[in-house]
Amino acid sequence: MYQSRIFAPTLKEAPAEAQIPSHILMMRAGLIRQLAAGIFSQLPLGYRSLKKVQSIIREEMDAIGGQEFHLPALNPIDIWEQTGRVEAMGDVMFHIKNREGLVLAPTHEEIMTYHAKQHIKSYRDMPQIWYQIQTKFRNEPRPKSGVLRGRQFTMKDAYSLDNSSEGLDKSYLLHEQAYRNIYTRCGLKFFVVGASSGAMGGSASQEFMVESPHGEDTCAIDEHSGYAANIEVAVSAVEPIKRLDAASPLEEFATPKSKTIDELVEHFGLDVNRCAKSVVYFADSTPYLILMRGNDQLNEAKFQAHVGAIQCRPAEPEELFALTGAHAGSIGPIGMKSDITIIADNLLKDANGLVSGANKDGYHYKNIDITRDCTISGYADFRTVLDGEPCIHGGHPLRIVNAIEVGHIFKLGTKYSKALNAVFLDEHGKEQPIIMGSYGIGLERIIACAIEQHHDDKGICWPIAIAPYTVHLIGLGLHKSQDVVNACISIHDALEQSGIDVLFDDRDVSPGIKFNDADLIGLPIQLIVGEKGLLQGQLEMKNRKTQERIHIAIQSEQLVQQTVDAILEQLQAMSS
Ligand code: ATP
Ligand code: MG
Repeated sequence: MYQSRIFAPTLKEAPAEAQIPSHILMMRAGLIRQLAAGIFSQLPLGYRSLKKVQSIIREEMDAIGGQEFHLPALNPIDIWEQTGRVEAMGDVMFHIKNREGLVLAPTHEEIMTYHAKQHIKSYRDMPQIWYQIQTKFRNEPRPKSGVLRGRQFTMKDAYSLDNSSEGLDKSYLLHEQAYRNIYTRCGLKFFVVGASSGAMGGSASQEFMVESPHGEDTCAIDEHSGYAANIEVAVSAVEPIKRLDAASPLEEFATPKSKTIDELVEHFGLDVNRCAKSVVYFADSTPYLILMRGNDQLNEAKFQAHVGAIQCRPAEPEELFALTGAHAGSIGPIGMKSDITIIADNLLKDANGLVSGANKDGYHYKNIDITRDCTISGYADFRTVLDGEPCIHGGHPLRIVNAIEVGHIFKLGTKYSKALNAVFLDEHGKEQPIIMGSYGIGLERIIACAIEQHHDDKGICWPIAIAPYTVHLIGLGLHKSQDVVNACISIHDALEQSGIDVLFDDRDVSPGIKFNDADLIGLPIQLIVGEKGLLQGQLEMKNRKTQERIHIAIQSEQLVQQTVDAILEQLQAMSS
């Protein structure tokens, strides 16, 4: 491709809203343009990369027996109502205003299950793996970071249909391996974490993560044991509070100046771990009081998963007062005004010697024995794991890192098949719900993550497999030398014939502009052809990522073949 014929508008500066490297560089290198918040147009260079990612995904999905579909983005809402996801998705789902009853699909579990229900009748009809590469619509509340979080984006979503849980295990493993292959081929350094199933339902799920300071996800990892989990499910080996020997009576004491745990600790010389904090949350419309160690943070995802709610939120100050009889800072598990279910963190299991609010402003109780003085409906792990806490496998300190989720695989089980009555007859002629899995990859996120991981201060350093083109052929002084023009055209054509995609910078601009644009666009190999080199029998090749320059000796009559051979050799070296 001749650069003068491709629309690739590069920019010196990215617009102010672009704050992270991938967003800045995708704008500057002319890969994308923003149409509205969270909505991006792919320009020719960007779209070429996206298509390469698509091909890699197709190859790996086809290799595990996937069959490609293409489902409509416009969906009848009643199918979504049957699974309860109109409510679960809330404002994230786009509703069509001038055509009642249609929504824009944020994912396709419902529609695939609908088609499975129509035609999968017997255990013999499975396993099936159905996938598509398709546009998804989500009204993300805070679209930012460029294509990492779009309101419209491309997803490869796949669904497995099985007649047994062993079958689902197999389909799930096939996807896990396919995903590993896909990210590896796309040049991503990634790790896999145990994840929460969230609004999707189901029994097990894993996310594929790319470590990045710009990631919106947080993960706990221990390289020693290989433990890795999303913070929404991560656990650590922090020990529960030990019971004190002395059984002191419950005692109320005035704490007028102590509104926070820190103030309480400071004013009364208390052990922070024994200052039990009471957090009041609504799970859908039901209030809960969650009792935890004073310095621990409630993990909303763990709480939501525990109570099985669709929406969770902290109680508002006036609700707090109405429910407990006190304001924040004086709330506790004993003597609340109303009958709220109390649940407690595992670390407080059977603890005594605790201090907590007395549900009377400015008062606390001390010597609380949770087994004697409180009615706890259940214990679970509700706290957020912190950096440095010991790993449950071997006790090495956990590292808390930010990461970008590039893929997510779920064992859905029968949530959707039951809701939509997608059943089959088993070997014994008995009706059973289809056992499903669901597997998603964000394509634009793969590209953005690749750029986050592979760039320098000059621009992108594309992994070969997903670079818009493989070689940037930079012709210098073309207007002055017909020899250079002829050499470039011959090399360009020969590379294309050898199956190497090449972008030939044939523009009538200065070498400086060409070099800067080439570094910015970041194709893996730059091949520099100028009059001086041709005369000296030498061409220059630059590895964009390492900046290493290699001089290729050429004889003029073998110029083209020697150049193609040198490029092939270099590509081989770079991909091994
Ligand atoms: P997130 O937690 O980041 O909102 P999610 O868990 O809702 O993502 P899934 O429903 O698991 O996302 O979707 C599968 C994949 O689609 C994700 O792993 C991610 O790569 C991609 N994806 C999800 N939402 C977006 C978005 N708004 N923009 C771009 N890609 C997205
Ligand atoms: Mg996800």
